[in-house]
Amino acid sequence: MIQKHLVLLPGDGIGPEVVAQAVKALRVVEKRFGVSFSMETALMGGAAIDAAGVPLPPETVAACKKADAVLLGAVGGPKWDGLPNNVRPEAGLLGIRKELGLFANLRPSTVFPELASLSCLRPDLVEKGVDILVVRELTGDVYFGKPAGEEVRDGLRYAFNNMIYNESEIRRIARVAFAAARKRGKRVCSVDKANVLVVGRLWRAVVEEAHKEFPDVDLSHMYVDNCAMQLIMNPGQFDVIVTGNIFGDILSDESAAVAGSLGMLPSASLSGTAGEGGVGLYEPVHGSAPDIAGRDKANPLATILSVAMMLRLSFGLVEAADAVEKAVREVLREGWRTGDIAAGRAEKVVGCIAMGDLVAAGIENAR
Ligand code: NAD
Repeated sequence: MIQKHLVLLPGDGIGPEVVAQAVKALRVVEKRFGVSFSMETALMGGAAIDAAGVPLPPETVAACKKADAVLLGAVGGPKWDGLPNNVRPEAGLLGIRKELGLFANLRPSTVFPELASLSCLRPDLVEKGVDILVVRELTGDVYFGKPAGEEVRDGLRYAFNNMIYNESEIRRIARVAFAAARKRGKRVCSVDKANVLVVGRLWRAVVEEAHKEFPDVDLSHMYVDNCAMQLIMNPGQFDVIVTGNIFGDILSDESAAVAGSLGMLPSASLSGTAGEGGVGLYEPVHGSAPDIAGRDKANPLATILSVAMMLRLSFGLVEAADAVEKAVREVLREGWRTGDIAAGRAEKVVGCIAMGDLVAAGIENAR
């Protein structure tokens, strides 16, 4: 029996509601796939500010560092909006990413055929299926490069940031992307601007070197401007995209728009490839949705799909991950929808809890 310890950080707003449904899915996975999860809940975000005065209490950090994986709901809300930046709920999010050394952000964008109408693209561009994983480097690049600042030279105001990567930062994110590709379509497209930027040339060279460890995965390269265009002209061509922090910031949002609905988008942040002892943090892309919190209206599928990512990427439980994803697809195929993804009359609209029950039943019956 595989034994894994999880820390749950439900957070604020709809966070606790969607995390509860993901736990339901995990309990069924336990019954079917020879794995057992011990779970502890810890405070983060506004809930932690109310209970402990800070958005990320030290006990939460300690618990997460000991866990095999962390599942986060969402943090924030109007109640805490007036607080200074360093004690706002969102500071907890940045803090935990730093404490856990999460340098890789993985965001899949899947267009489920049943939800093709939610995509911002024409149906003929997405109906054959889109399943893209954007692997974004999270701790380097122009956002953190030094020197950065502002100054006046010859009477003119200047501002500057520094795009900088070292080879070890590039190698480790490339390895995460290749390892993830191995568990999906076995194709990586590395995105850079090597035709103009020296950083891009180093990026490309190091990705090529890292590729030698993964000969079973295909590697291609694309300039970022072309990638931005290809994502909307022919999104079906991509499997895994790996790129630096700033390009990934933009391309992951673009590919999210291709998928369409916030309530359907999972994510993972990792400190290494599976089996290397790092902790993964899994969370839906959406926020705490204060406008619908406490009303059983939240879509739990992004969080349930985040659990599927956890099973696949942190624990290598591919069969269990497949079963969760298949159950979500089946529920959609049968016409069940939460309010945010309902469009047609033939659809059966349910609340957060009922959607969680439907997916749990689907996992239980998955063949
Ligand atoms: P949001 O993602 O919370 O909500 C945007 C819109 O999408 C709302 O209309 C909401 O009802 C809807 N929505 C989001 N998730 C949904 C779901 N699962 N099911 C159904 N509908 C859903 O973004 P926002 O309104 O800009 O931010 C609200 C709060 O969340 C803010 O305090 C913000 O700082 C915080 N936030 C947190 C995270 C995070 O924890 N990772 C991310 C983004 C925003």
